[in-house]
Amino acid sequence: AIPGGEIDIAALPLRADLRGKSPYGAPQLDVAVRLNTNENPYLPPPGLIDDVTESIRAVAADLHRYPDRDAIALRTDLADYLGTATGVELDTVNVWAANGSNEVLQQIMQAFGGPGRTALGFAPSYSMHPIIASGTRTEWVAAPRREDFSLDAATAVRAIEEHRPDIVFVTSPNNPTGQSVPLEDLRTLLAAAPGIVVLDEAYGEFSAAPSGVRLLAEFPTKLIVSRTMSKAFAFAGGRLGYLAAAPAVVDALQLVRLPYHLSVLTQAAARAALRHAEATLGSVAALVAERHRVADALTGLGFPVVHSDANFLLFGGFADPAEAWQSYLDGGVLVRDVGIPGHLRATVGTPAENDAFLNASKEVAARFG
Ligand code: PMP
Repeated sequence: AIPGGEIDIAALPLRADLRGKSPYGAPQLDVAVRLNTNENPYLPPPGLIDDVTESIRAVAADLHRYPDRDAIALRTDLADYLGTATGVELDTVNVWAANGSNEVLQQIMQAFGGPGRTALGFAPSYSMHPIIASGTRTEWVAAPRREDFSLDAATAVRAIEEHRPDIVFVTSPNNPTGQSVPLEDLRTLLAAAPGIVVLDEAYGEFSAAPSGVRLLAEFPTKLIVSRTMSKAFAFAGGRLGYLAAAPAVVDALQLVRLPYHLSVLTQAAARAALRHAEATLGSVAALVAERHRVADALTGLGFPVVHSDANFLLFGGFADPAEAWQSYLDGGVLVRDVGIPGHLRATVGTPAENDAFLNASKEVAARFG
């Protein structure tokens, strides 16, 4: 018998507000075509794999020592990358990094949210935002989007004025719907927000819209831009997320971050991956072209497709998305049921993966269309 196997979670003295909740759960299934977690489908380039391997070998000699707690070299490299990508000069002290942008977001909620405080987001959006709010005991308010899932700045401002949240979450491009928020709308939201605005730009590299990083100098006490190496950078397994903000924001996060949270191995691997940014990000244009191709083909099959600036598409027309999801899976394609009535989400893959997805879509259209 498994020691302790006879009891279940109900037998534990769990926090009352966590009882009955479900963990974040994209199924990790062994399927040929996995288009469910918005990863970059292309393998890391051979040069990157060699560089990561050699970098890890070099730092392995120091594994008896704790890592650089402040990850200065990595943050300097990230500041260089993000500064070049956004056209805004950034210093090392503008950047903070953690194990995935999920950890970045959690640190932000620990420092600026918490018991007695409120965070507001625009639903549907990234499902981890309310889950991290719940874990940090931050009250969560879901404000609405337009019918087409885009963000209406005037409605958003009204929600901000009504709820006066300590933190506003804006995702651009939005997951799972795909639209970017224009700079002018971001400026309107920032002006209205009484506290922090977290701009989650996990898919920023896929969008032609300018980054909110351009507004940092204008709103230094409010704006935090969160980014990740999990998507365009093809580094989801490396777990590296980061943010850009005023140096004082980074100082504030030191109060809640665990010491040595970024291992020697993570820091070395992420720096090596950044040295190959040009090669990895070379896939972005191909993925954007494929996004257009897949969107057109889905439309041709009769599925309404939501406009996307990211590396995934939300498409609709399903009476029963769960049933359609299973039908895709039976066809060897894993997509995502994000819980939006009538819709499913598919990541843009390689051309071959997208062909497999479109073939499966033909069958799904014939059965459920
Ligand atoms: N933000 C958004 C909008 C996302 O979609 C994701 C990943 N699905 C994340 C943040 C977190 O990614 P990671 O922790 O891998 O950086």
